[in-house]
Amino acid sequence: MAKSRGRLYLWMCLAAALASFLVGFMVGWFIKPLKETATSVRYHQSIRWELVSEMKAENIKSFLRSFTKLPHLAGTEENFLLAKKIQTQWKKFGLDSAKLVHYDVLLSYPNETNANYISTVNEHGIEGDLVYVNYARTEDFFKLEREMSINCTGKIVIARYGKIFRGNKVKNAMLAGAIGIILYSDPADYFAPEIQPYPKGWNLPGTAAQRGNVLNLNGAGDPLTPGYPAKEYTFRLDVEEGVGIPKIPVHPIGYNDAEILLRHLGGIAPPDESWKGALNVSYNIGPGFTGSHSFRKVRMHVHNINKITRIYNVIGTIRGSVEPDRYVILGGHRDAWVFGAVDPTSGVAVLQEIVRSFGKLMSKGWRPRRTIIFASWDAEEFGLLGSTEWAEENAKILQERSIAYINSDSSIEGNYTLRVDCTPLLYQLVYELTKEIPSPDGGFESKSLYESWLEKDPSPANKNLPR
Ligand SMILES: [Zn+2]
Repeated sequence: MAKSRGRLYLWMCLAAALASFLVGFMVGWFIKPLKETATSVRYHQSIRWELVSEMKAENIKSFLRSFTKLPHLAGTEENFLLAKKIQTQWKKFGLDSAKLVHYDVLLSYPNETNANYISTVNEHGIEGDLVYVNYARTEDFFKLEREMSINCTGKIVIARYGKIFRGNKVKNAMLAGAIGIILYSDPADYFAPEIQPYPKGWNLPGTAAQRGNVLNLNGAGDPLTPGYPAKEYTFRLDVEEGVGIPKIPVHPIGYNDAEILLRHLGGIAPPDESWKGALNVSYNIGPGFTGSHSFRKVRMHVHNINKITRIYNVIGTIRGSVEPDRYVILGGHRDAWVFGAVDPTSGVAVLQEIVRSFGKLMSKGWRPRRTIIFASWDAEEFGLLGSTEWAEENAKILQERSIAYINSDSSIEGNYTLRVDCTPLLYQLVYELTKEIPSPDGGFESKSLYESWLEKDPSPANKNLPR
């Protein structure tokens, strides 16, 4: 008797639970909006315009000035202070949080008491005959080895910048057996027509040498902690086992010095016009010099020092009101080779004004639907180290929750025009937005940014679109 009453009671409880679940489900189903209503679309449009009209060119200019007063190379005190300055401002603008996140990564610096240089006089140093290898692409080395029977083993090669990533030039030279590689910028690749070199005009001067890392990281980030964040607790490889570190010396020079080295190259003539730059030399391949210089060798003196160094990202957030666990990330690097007024600070200053404008909207009670994460990355110039280490540390959560990443690096081509590099998915969006913004350029009054951009920098692939 007691047993069957207990069973009846259990069934009633189950039925009640099911009924209340169904009621809850139905309520949830019917109050869920099936599609965005016209009012919500209008609301988003008005917020977008409020955001755009909040942003002021004057503010971007003053952020740029303030952030480029000192050089801020990754791993230096100045770049740490700049990180703290950006963090303080993000807090003042009203972000929900703004934190410094550090990693200890392998960075390479010049030796302050032992300078890097190239010589042709008889002294110590890595010594070899010089071979000109055009852009040091795979096809350039194939041409030398297979069609011209020139072996680069034991040679020092000289290559011009351009066409491919400089790190791949170094890798190709190593694979060809070279014992060193000299890189230079040829006016054929780095000169706008009819413009004088600096200081008379804005073209590249002959003394200018291009900076840039020559690692082959393939996304590893810090060379000593591939796949893992470079924290205090992380296992580190020895420097000799580090990912992508070149095993031969590399040295960049300007075209004035390159001309001196190329002027006396002997050996075979260049195979065709595509091997000739714009210097007043024969572009002979070598190996070695000709005439009275034939006894001279090239010597490379490279004494860079690798140091495990602390770097700092700044990570700021605005918590989303509807989908807080969906992340839209907006970031860019902060470190520069020197002052970095174009790369990266023209992008940093824009990002700063975006953060300020979002803060202004929040002070009026607005909140984004999804969480927005702002990032100021460190040590990008050394191989995307700050961003990669952060992604490695947060890999699982980012794979689950991130919706999009938008990068803000150099946003202008010098003082010439706008610069945009993005995934093809975003091209159309960029074109539409720049059609809505008035051009700041002289001679383009009452025209859009899109129009001045298109006229000044048409795409080499399609002249009807900007680059
Ligand atoms: Zn950059």
